[in-house]
Amino acid sequence: MIRRLEDSEAGVLTVRASAKVNLHLGVGAPREDGFHPLDTVYQAVSLYDDVSVAESSEWAVETVLSPYLAGTALPGPGENIVDRVGELLGGGERGASVRIGKSIPVAGGMAGGSADAAAALVALDRLWDLGTPDEELLALAARLGSDVPFALIGGTARGLGRGEQVVPVADHGDYAWVVVPDPRGLSTPAVYRRYDELFPDAPAEPASASRVLEALSYGDPGRLALALHNDLEPAAIDLLPDLEALLERGEAEGALRGIVSGSGPTCVFLCESTEAAQAVADGLGAVRPLTLLAVGPVAGAHVVEVL
Ligand code: ATP
Repeated sequence: MIRRLEDSEAGVLTVRASAKVNLHLGVGAPREDGFHPLDTVYQAVSLYDDVSVAESSEWAVETVLSPYLAGTALPGPGENIVDRVGELLGGGERGASVRIGKSIPVAGGMAGGSADAAAALVALDRLWDLGTPDEELLALAARLGSDVPFALIGGTARGLGRGEQVVPVADHGDYAWVVVPDPRGLSTPAVYRRYDELFPDAPAEPASASRVLEALSYGDPGRLALALHNDLEPAAIDLLPDLEALLERGEAEGALRGIVSGSGPTCVFLCESTEAAQAVADGLGAVRPLTLLAVGPVAGAHVVEVL
């Protein structure tokens, strides 16, 4: 399930992990532990972070941003989620030189931090020759964050519990997306707080993902577009009201449907084809400086280079 290369002496090992969009995000009322119960369907899309690791006696993490993320605020020293991966897997006693090549928008609702955590789990497990079984890696991933198990498996998957209980979904479609990042970012806890304020009577059980699951069985973007659903979208729009006009504009430019990705503020537009996506991206270029093209589903965390 989690792809690894076998038997090579790793000097520098690079593992790639992808961003996600939520095709369905049903959110229930907060549980006693404070977490919101979710019924979600993730799809991994072709925006990637690459995590490279090399042997070192010291522990060090550096992040290199793609040019279009220039100026983005990064976690301070010791505060990267990858630092937690090092502590969990290496017990705080092993060193490594870690470089995160970041292309996934930060605080954008695309689970970039979770992707880095998943990639670091696979890379460090290999670098340190730990041979951790997949089930244990998935359990460690769930401790690191609700979206991290999905970042390990990739593809399209349903997430239950707080999103960490992932079950792969058969998905034979190819979907073309336009991704519109937003440099303002949104804090995921802040979006959930606003959701609680807007929907104090939210049902205990999250809205079922059944419509999206049925649409996926046809592999048809038009059907999937009609079924897309995000309970956090009103909260994200309440915090950043101009997102609504952006979603409308993308649909006016020809997208089948625009939605806020997860907790936002990135907006994603499902299109009929990659050609249609290019046209939508061109049209949105008039109102937003940065539009990206992506396809899904793509693989979860996997080794891409051993030097
Ligand atoms: P999600 O969709 O999982 O809620 P997100 O995509 O909105 O997350 P992330 O980019 O994962 O947001 O980052 C959330 C916060 O986590 C950031 O504000 C950042 O300070 C912190 N963080 C820690 N490590 C990382 C990392 N490697 N990459 C990005 N953010 C990180």
